[in-house]
Amino acid sequence: MPRRFGPYGGAYVPETLVPALQELERSWHSARRDPTFRTELDRLSRTLGGRPTPLYFARNLSRRAGGAEIWLKREDLLHGGAHKFNNALGQGLLARRMGKPRLIAETGAGQHGVATAMIGAALGLETEVYMGEVDMERQRPNVERMRLLGAEVHPVRTGGRTLKDAINEALRDWIANVRTTHYLLGSAVGPHPFPSIVAEFQSVIGQEVRRQSVRAFGRLPDLAVACVGGGSNAIGTFHPLLDTDVHFLGVEAGGAGGRGPGAASLTRGRPGILHGSFSYVLQDADGQVAETESISAGLDYPGVGPEHAWLHDRGRAKYVAVRDRDALRAFHWLAEDEGILPALEPSHAIFAAVGEARRRPATDHVVVTLSGRGDKDLGVVTGAAR
Ligand SMILES: *Cc1c(COP(=O)(O)O)cnc(C)c1O
Repeated sequence: MPRRFGPYGGAYVPETLVPALQELERSWHSARRDPTFRTELDRLSRTLGGRPTPLYFARNLSRRAGGAEIWLKREDLLHGGAHKFNNALGQGLLARRMGKPRLIAETGAGQHGVATAMIGAALGLETEVYMGEVDMERQRPNVERMRLLGAEVHPVRTGGRTLKDAINEALRDWIANVRTTHYLLGSAVGPHPFPSIVAEFQSVIGQEVRRQSVRAFGRLPDLAVACVGGGSNAIGTFHPLLDTDVHFLGVEAGGAGGRGPGAASLTRGRPGILHGSFSYVLQDADGQVAETESISAGLDYPGVGPEHAWLHDRGRAKYVAVRDRDALRAFHWLAEDEGILPALEPSHAIFAAVGEARRRPATDHVVVTLSGRGDKDLGVVTGAAR
């Protein structure tokens, strides 16, 4: 398991966290080779999570694009309504294996907090979640879900009061309580070994895409598209296909457009250190981390996983930014064409995928990871429509 992806990654953390990261890496090394762990992960993925999720031919959306076929990898149908379950389950089982009775997590859209709360309940682990006040306001239903699932939700009032600030608070808690607590980080970001662990737990998405594409249309897709916040659903989609000639498109949040940074770390940021990892970061001229803005709380993060930074620099994956209003258009397309309400995060990917499909021949296949469902966003969408 690499500590670095090219120059990116590493573990820039206070000394107090080093033993915990080493313990996590050791535990992960032994767990992934342990058939009992694998069997339990697989069993709960199926019977609690609902895996495998289907690969759906979006016939009407493809017709709208008027080019390549668009297929949707339905992570929105996973337990909890997003891909976050895959990682929360895996790390929850690791925490139990390490004998840690308490989980902490950060959350942006609330999806990771909900997934962690579900897993905490199912595995009998105490769960506390840090969430920015701004996010608590715009993702109210998920705050209620977490509380109903028995988790304690701590409002974060520092900084821009969104995901970045919630991660800072969670890291602070972890430093203070490292012996009893596992920090269940929600994306492929942060210090080593988190980016690799999260990528591997999310790789079940790409492994299924690989099998299901061959079964459904006789070969691998020509292009795989996924939205990128921290980058976990995208890396999970791309990873198992990296050794093929499938093309990759990661879609960041462009925000309102114009000169603002949105939350597009790869397309508008530059290399720097954030939350213990060297990767692309949205920052000002002095290197201060920028405040981001996006219609989707789950993409509202100024950093990105180090493996994406390396795929970007090598040109192995392409990254684009999609604006709020185009993501909203794609939300309505999918709702009206296919009867699916997508989360606003993958709506960014849907918009980019339709554009790509339009430029490609009808014989091509574009697979988009539909990372979550849109119930949590109805307030934002109906508010924006007014
Ligand atoms: C959290 C979230 C994202 C963004 O996180 P990644 O780590 O980039 O995948 C995307 N879509 C949904 C539905 C989410 O909940």
